[in-house]
Order: sequence, then structure tokens, then C-alpha cells
Amino acid sequence: MPSHDHLQTRICLIGAAIVLILLISAAASASDTGQPGWDPEVAAMIAEVSESELYATTADLQAFGTRAIGTDGNTEAAAYLHDRLRAIPELEVEYQGGDRRNVVATLPGSGQNADTFVVVGAHYDSTATDPKNAPGATDNAAGVAIVLELARIMSSQTFDRTIAFALWNAEEAGRHGSRDYARRAAADDREILLYLNYDSTAYDPENRSVVTVLADARAAGVARAMAQYPARYGIDVTLVSESGVPISDHVSFREQGYPVVMMHAPRPGWPMHTPDDTIDYVSFPYARKSAQLGLAVLAEVACLNGTVTGDEAQVSASRTAVAVFPHLIADLERLTRPPLRGIPTGSSGCPDMQGL
Ligand SMILES: [Zn+2]
Repeated sequence: MPSHDHLQTRICLIGAAIVLILLISAAASASDTGQPGWDPEVAAMIAEVSESELYATTADLQAFGTRAIGTDGNTEAAAYLHDRLRAIPELEVEYQGGDRRNVVATLPGSGQNADTFVVVGAHYDSTATDPKNAPGATDNAAGVAIVLELARIMSSQTFDRTIAFALWNAEEAGRHGSRDYARRAAADDREILLYLNYDSTAYDPENRSVVTVLADARAAGVARAMAQYPARYGIDVTLVSESGVPISDHVSFREQGYPVVMMHAPRPGWPMHTPDDTIDYVSFPYARKSAQLGLAVLAEVACLNGTVTGDEAQVSASRTAVAVFPHLIADLERLTRPPLRGIPTGSSGCPDMQGL
């Protein structure tokens, strides 16, 4: 049995050890949050992105056998997606584009900038040499799964700007769905700050975790800002910029003058457009990282919690966002079609899009 002195010494040592542990953990959490622009609510949403959700949606879509335009599977998949989005109470869901049968869910903005939009989309139709057998798992059920997962997570938050989660039809037949939407948006003078496209973003047979980012000049600032997210939020991906111009739904928005960013795997999935494009070829860890990256982009551009006033922490977080996004703000101000107009400054705590 230890003497009284020994006991005191032990208590002191234990106390010192506890203090040391607390100091170490405080230092560790400081390094987690030490990245400029780090936002705890964005980090919490990023942590929520679930591989099992992505898997379940991809499996459901593959189970239709085909989603090629003109098949029953295409119509049934649209109804399935409509139901999935309708199950999220915060969203307004519609079939858009008449026969094109896009499925579009809107999360209304909560503040002064609610008439400006951020759109994220993926096509749900598939194709193959035999249109009756077109499982389309990498192209593009997994992309649709990502958009649904973003809708599920982001709908629990409020954003100053309106976010549209769009699932396009007939991309494989000539981008008919997204072309219809983008043309109507331009005809209505709708202000879309960014269109973010997911197509074939989940094929990574060598586990390289390289994400190719294609951005046009109008969205170059977004792409530059995206380059900071992997380090800021601990997303283990390498970003490379795309020099070619893969054709997908982002082209429909670019044709109308809107800023676009597309993410995809660095090379096309080999089973693409064949009956072999099954879920076995989908890398869900990689799909999860793509979803996390897109979530960070959307949260920043749509201005998370932008309308909350009187909260110093949130206002200062938004100020940081402005500092991180000077090119984005300038590019959008100058190049978005139609020109941004009448967006109030200051009181919302959002990046104010003016005077920067
Ligand atoms: Zn595709």
C-alpha cells in the first residue's frame, strides 16, 4: 500500500497527465479548425455524407434494368426519383420540361437573395447498345445518388439563395432535359450563380481519388476556391483541372451564358454505355468524396445561414467566405447572365456580390 506522500505524488502525476492530454486534444482540434474559412456547420454536413445512402440509391436505379429514353424503366425511374425527393418535406418537387420529364426539387432561399439560384444536377437516363439492358451504374446512377444525398443533407439547413436539385432526362439522347431547363431559365431572366454537374463521377478502379474539375471562365473563381476544400475539410482527393470538353448537361447551361463546373472521373469508365455498367464498378468511397466536395461548394455559393443576423460568429464566418472568394464574386458579378442586379449589401451577412 503506498504511503501518503507517494499517493500525493501519484495524484499530481495523474493531474499533470490529464492537463497534458487536454492540451494535446485542444491543439489537435485547433489544427482541425485552423484552416481559413473552415465552417463548423459545413464540416458537420460533410461528415453526414453516407456511402450506404449512395449505394442504396445506385442499387435502386440499376434495378430498373434500363432507364433509356422511351422505355418503361425511364418513366419508372422518374417516378421513383420524384417520390424520393417528395419525402423530404422542405423541398418543392416538380416534373419539369413536359415530355422531357426532368425531376427538379427546390429548396427555397430564406433571405434577401432568394431570387438567385444555385443549381446542382445529374442525368438519370441511361444508354447501351441494347437499350433494354442499360443498368447505367457509373453513368450515371451514382451521380444521381450524389445529388439526392446532397438534397437530403442540405435540406436540413437554411440558405440565403435558392438551391435547385435537378435530375435530368435524355442527356444521352442530346441533353434534351437540361437544354429545356436552361433555355427556359435564360428566357425568364433567372439568375443562376452556378450550375454544378455530376456525370460519371464514381469510377475509380485504381483507388486514386483524383477528381477532374472542368470550369469555364465564368466559374474559374469557383474552381480556384474548390482547390482549397480538400485541405480545409479533410477530403482526401486530388483535384486536376480538365483541358478537354466532355459533353454533358453543363454544356446546356454554358450555352445560355451561365457559369458551370463539372466534376467527373479522370477517364471514362470502361463499362460506360454497355450492359456491364453495373454497381460493381462504382467506387462509393470516391463518390462520397465527390459529394463532399460539391457540398462545400454549394454551401458557400448558396450562403449557408445567410439571413441570420446579430450573430457575430456567423457574420464573421461569412466575411471569411468573402475573403476566400474574391475571384468568384468578381467573376460572377461580371459574367453571370443575366447580370446580377439589385442584390442588397451588408445586412444579410452573405457575400454581397457588390463592391468587391
Ligand atoms: Zn452520362
